[in-house]
Amino acid sequence: MSKKKKQDRPAPETLQLPCVGVESHAHLDFKPLAEDLPAVLARARAAGVDRLLQIFLGPEAYRNGVALFEAHRNVDFAIGVHPNSAEQCTDAAVAEMEAICREDARTAGRMKAIGEIGLDYYWDRVDPAVQRAAFAAQLELARGLALPVVIHSREAHADAVAMLKDLGFAHRPVLWHCFGGDLDQAREIVAAGWHVSIPGPVTYAKNTALREAVAAIPLQRLMLETDCPYLTPEPWRGTTNEPALMAFTAVEVARCKAMDPAALWAATGETARAFFGLPAC
Ligand SMILES: [Zn+2]
Repeated sequence: MSKKKKQDRPAPETLQLPCVGVESHAHLDFKPLAEDLPAVLARARAAGVDRLLQIFLGPEAYRNGVALFEAHRNVDFAIGVHPNSAEQCTDAAVAEMEAICREDARTAGRMKAIGEIGLDYYWDRVDPAVQRAAFAAQLELARGLALPVVIHSREAHADAVAMLKDLGFAHRPVLWHCFGGDLDQAREIVAAGWHVSIPGPVTYAKNTALREAVAAIPLQRLMLETDCPYLTPEPWRGTTNEPALMAFTAVEVARCKAMDPAALWAATGETARAFFGLPAC
């Protein structure tokens, strides 16, 4: 599929999803998207994406990027130091994130979550002990601000679950972003009262375990995301990902759940609005 020529691939708006979708995880401040942001957001809307959550990877990313979104009020924010940069999660960085969130709460009200935070044992970049300390500090930040948490967990499922439970986050608003796990991991997440966000790789032929997990996750716990500019779904795999392409992920998730794609799109959008406290359509 990824070898297909561009002109052979269907445009996302041809899927005709209603404009009620919510993209729960985008990096719109990353270069290929930031340079073309008005067009990226216009294509998202044409494909049925009504609102988006922009993930800032720490206070510096927020300072550098927030102005990009001044004119785009359907974009809300999350902020957190990624586990692959956990050494940057100093006391000063946590204090700055707290100040950013408190200032935002008094003014724009666009900061909706702490994340992505968590553990990544796949990329051997940062000592796991340093990652765990950064994760714990940012979970405390989320608790103090009463904000939901967006989790990044890669090859670290058991440790991430254990830390969340030990720190009292069972049955609190926790979203497992970019879920790529199996049925057992999905069941563990659901049993703890948490939510799951499904990215484009659910469309990849080899990911049968993920599709099996998706089928078992209750609809009320499911959200959709791109994690753009990464993880482009089929049939656009091999190109830069962007929010409009989440429509293809929705069609595959709907197939896993034996649902109409438009109904799945609306339901996951509603779940994301309730979880992050986003305005209704
Ligand atoms: Zn991300």
